[in-house]
Amino acid sequence: MIKFLDLQKINLLHQTEIEAKLLEVFRSGWYLLGTQVKNFENNLSQYIGSKHAIGVANGLDALRLIFRAYIELGIMKAGDEVIVPANTYIASILALSDNGLVPVLVEPDINTYNLDISKIEEKITSKTKAIFIVHLQGRVVFSEELKEIAQKHNLKIVEDNAQSIGADWNGIKTGNLGDAAGFSFYPGKNLGALGDAGTVTTNDDELAQAIRALANYGSNEKYVNIYQGLNSRLDEIQAAVLDVKLKYIDEENNLRRKIAKRFISEVKNPKVTLPENPENDGEHVWHIFVIRTADRSALQEYLTSNGIQTLIHYPIPPHQQKAYKEWNNLSFPITEKIHEEVLSLPISSILEKQEIDTIISILNNY
Ligand SMILES: *Cc1c(COP(=O)(O)O)cnc(C)c1O
Repeated sequence: MIKFLDLQKINLLHQTEIEAKLLEVFRSGWYLLGTQVKNFENNLSQYIGSKHAIGVANGLDALRLIFRAYIELGIMKAGDEVIVPANTYIASILALSDNGLVPVLVEPDINTYNLDISKIEEKITSKTKAIFIVHLQGRVVFSEELKEIAQKHNLKIVEDNAQSIGADWNGIKTGNLGDAAGFSFYPGKNLGALGDAGTVTTNDDELAQAIRALANYGSNEKYVNIYQGLNSRLDEIQAAVLDVKLKYIDEENNLRRKIAKRFISEVKNPKVTLPENPENDGEHVWHIFVIRTADRSALQEYLTSNGIQTLIHYPIPPHQQKAYKEWNNLSFPITEKIHEEVLSLPISSILEKQEIDTIISILNNY
């Protein structure tokens, strides 16, 4: 069986370094807000090019803390609207609704699976405060036009960078394209921890300070609380592991790019729609490799019976979830088509040549 993602194999690549770090943290007797977190924050902000990186407990917290901080700073308030792609993972939507902000869903572009920038402006009202972009599947969504729309309407650009660490647009890394960005280091992400972990990056000093406080009981100074904060800290063990793996992220993303290129050039089956390879290699880190097909369950069963494990990202769009009953009658035809037809193939830095060959030939025989 070719696993969709072999996390054991991925992490064992760095076994010696990771085990040494785990032991170091264990023996140090210091488990929260210590040197490991500080080192990782420094190395990550250097890698991204941002002034600040603030370690938090997970990706959802990173995103909701950004919006919570904008509210605490008086830049946004409950009832304000935020533009967000209709086909994103539920976490992006939760980060808004959790803060009383109104997600305004916008259809994606069927070719990139990313927010259709040409459809943003018609959704902007006097209540709109931000454009929340999601570099879905590892593909960058950004353009001069997007920047101009944000400037013209005085909107913040917030990035959900959970799936795209290492990608760049014209040499600027995702996570440094807008006003603030949330990262997830969930184990299956391109940079994965051994549990939950996340980070916010920003160049905004005030926002960074507010997020740091909010993530630590609303406090910048022990036992002095300036906000009704939460406990969302990145712990030392996760930071230490992430700091090891960060050194290899470019190398590992390049291996993903090579696999994606092989799939795109060698899979030749009219029943299968392949993803678009951006002109600029930097604009995709292939967190997932998503194909589309009219009869998805038939293809998925065929692949399973031929020893290839696949997943669906995602089967139900946010507006059709029970959690957002008020949207269940809305219609987003492109989003719905995507959710009905997509299937994710195995892709990661440890996939072997022979496994890639097998996936290609089995798809071509379908
Ligand atoms: C994984 C993910 C998140 C949430 O990250 P967690 O660490 O699981 O909380 C948010 N947005 C997107 C697009 C994701 O893929």
